Amino acid sequence: MNLTTAKAALKKTFGYDEFRPMQADIIQSIYDKKDTVVLMPTGGGKSLCFQVPAITMEGMCIVVSPLISLMKDQVEALNDNGVDAVFLNSSQSTEEQQHIEEEIYQGRIKLLYVSPEKMLSTQFLQILKQATINLFAIDEAHCISAWGHDFRPEYTKMRFLKNQFANIPVVALTATADKITRKDIVDQLGLAEPNVFISSFDRPNISLDVRPGQKRIEQILEFINQRRKQAGIIYCLSRKNTEDVCRKLLAKGMKAGFYHAGMNAKERDRVQTDFLNDNLNVVCATVAFGMGIDKSNVRWVIHYNLPKNMEGYYQEIGRAGRDGAKAEAVLFYSFRDVTVLREILSKNESKNAEIQLSKLDRIQQFADAHICRRKILLSYFGESLDKDCGNCDVCKNPPQHFDGTVICQKALSAIYRTRERVGMGLLIDILRGSRRREILQNGFDQIKTYGAGGDITSYDWQLLLLQMLNSGLIEIAYDYHNVLRITEAGKAVLFDNKKMQLVKMTSVKERQQKAKTKVKVQSKRERVRDELFEVLRQLRKDLARKRGVPPYIIFSDATLEEMAAERPVTEFDMHRISGVGEKKFAQYGEDFINAILGFIGTQSQSGTKVKGDSQVLTLQLYNRGFTPDQISIERDIQLGTVYNHLTELYARGQKIDWKKLISKKELDLTIQQLERSGEPFRLKELHEALEGKISYDRIKFAIAYYHKVVAG
Ligand code: ADP
Ligand code: ZN
Repeated sequence: MNLTTAKAALKKTFGYDEFRPMQADIIQSIYDKKDTVVLMPTGGGKSLCFQVPAITMEGMCIVVSPLISLMKDQVEALNDNGVDAVFLNSSQSTEEQQHIEEEIYQGRIKLLYVSPEKMLSTQFLQILKQATINLFAIDEAHCISAWGHDFRPEYTKMRFLKNQFANIPVVALTATADKITRKDIVDQLGLAEPNVFISSFDRPNISLDVRPGQKRIEQILEFINQRRKQAGIIYCLSRKNTEDVCRKLLAKGMKAGFYHAGMNAKERDRVQTDFLNDNLNVVCATVAFGMGIDKSNVRWVIHYNLPKNMEGYYQEIGRAGRDGAKAEAVLFYSFRDVTVLREILSKNESKNAEIQLSKLDRIQQFADAHICRRKILLSYFGESLDKDCGNCDVCKNPPQHFDGTVICQKALSAIYRTRERVGMGLLIDILRGSRRREILQNGFDQIKTYGAGGDITSYDWQLLLLQMLNSGLIEIAYDYHNVLRITEAGKAVLFDNKKMQLVKMTSVKERQQKAKTKVKVQSKRERVRDELFEVLRQLRKDLARKRGVPPYIIFSDATLEEMAAERPVTEFDMHRISGVGEKKFAQYGEDFINAILGFIGTQSQSGTKVKGDSQVLTLQLYNRGFTPDQISIERDIQLGTVYNHLTELYARGQKIDWKKLISKKELDLTIQQLERSGEPFRLKELHEALEGKISYDRIKFAIAYYHKVVAG
């Protein structure tokens, strides 16, 4: 078995041209019958690593997967690509199970998905013993580790595989990367010197954006308004939040739902299904949502509140853009969120509360950062990025600095003179000279810096104080009413006039502003293409409803985007679109080609010039039985142009019934002449050699024919 076979299967079955980084090496390792461990982020393309070997090798691959919903999804997707895959689990009737067993014995199945429980049953072992197995794939392998977050005890018994089937390779796959888990996987499965593949956890297609948490609802409404047809998730901290946000979206006529663990199973199921089927665009949810959802066309994820830690953040944004197409992650961040989270975590009596708090610190630093956010994110997971990513808010709008010494001194002085008894809100009011009762009662209006910062808005003050906090000039006494205290570094600025650089507020604001306008410009440019994209999306939805599968099973967003951009109208060109394999083409190719043709047709009627549409119109007429002469008259173009169109399409692989272009006799004559003259062909010489009996147009077609059929 070699990689050429694998690559052919990749194209034929899945419609993809290239393996992603590591996929080829992993497949080779499996072909070499080595045990293999794969660590790849969600959406990285793990499934293909065992599916391609399963399809290309003799026999069947057993896939152990912990979640029934995931199994169902993968099996559906495989079936739709023409692969014989089935699953066995407790949700099926005895008859169904027997039928499947029958198929296994007859060697008709290439991939069999089972739950860990099923795998361990003695009855199933009997089946395994009688079947030809080429590979065991343990998906979500981190479930084997008690350290992980999804520990499944049944997974730890999976060691029997290596004992009973010593010669069959095992591949274990997970998106959880830490070392302990990795070691557990190898130990528990009893893998023999496995090849370990760790791919980058970067998801460059997801843009990262952190925004101040003021007026979130307004910001969110605007954001969604620009993306009305896209699917997205809004993660909120509390159940109540999810319902509130959802209500506000519904009031604006958006298709939204909410999801949290307080709902009954039926309600949750409904929301999830509606979301999968593109009937619901937005789900406002707690972190309970998303586990076991394989929807590949989630286009954006918003964090309404700061997540508790980087692990959670990474996992949640990872639910966007699994198809590899452009996706967005927006995080709203306010200081209040941090305080609330800190309180929740501090009340937690468990011994790892300390760790939780320091994890919160890390994500706060991430949200506050003025350097490339992806760098910080990846470095948290032990990876380093050479260059700035160019796809986060900081990279897109690098901050500008100014000498902030005096401003810092004003704030520090006010903290000092109120004897470190005030929190952030009150301090800002003092600096801005508010007449709040609390201020007057405490005589804070008497201190020297009262009103010294009246020229700065309270919003800007918040941002400034956050910067001071992150630069370590001040700290917050979490154990004492969250009052602000001055650190040693702060004292150096206040008393020793140590210089302090701050990031310009204008650049923070400009950044938000620019982010807004950028979105607008972009969506305008995309709208032209979006029209066709929408047509295709609707078609996908209709087909999905008819077939009773989620739309993304039919084609991914990335595939539709490529179709909308490339506008393939021939079988040949359609096959060049990533994600269009043979079975997919057979099932849906014609529907999509017709949709594109229809779209191009309406566009040319309305006078909009579309690239390539002329060729297509010629082809349409030709296929409807027009001769080249008739097309020339009908379309009011030169006969030569008609020939050029058809010859070019033919050369690019379009099937064309050429008999109306050139007679068999003429073709034979010309080809004989071509063989006599040899390459390079010169039209004029050929024309003369054929005694001027065959037109240039026909000779050109004959050359294309020669290259394709005779010489090719
Ligand atoms: P994972 O299991 O790692 O979360 P998947 O196997 O579901 O990821 O793959 C994520 C998406 O990427 C799927 O839509 C899949 O079809 C696509 N994909 C996988 N490999 C390739 C490839 N070589 N070229 C293009 N798309 C790919
Ligand atoms: Zn960046």
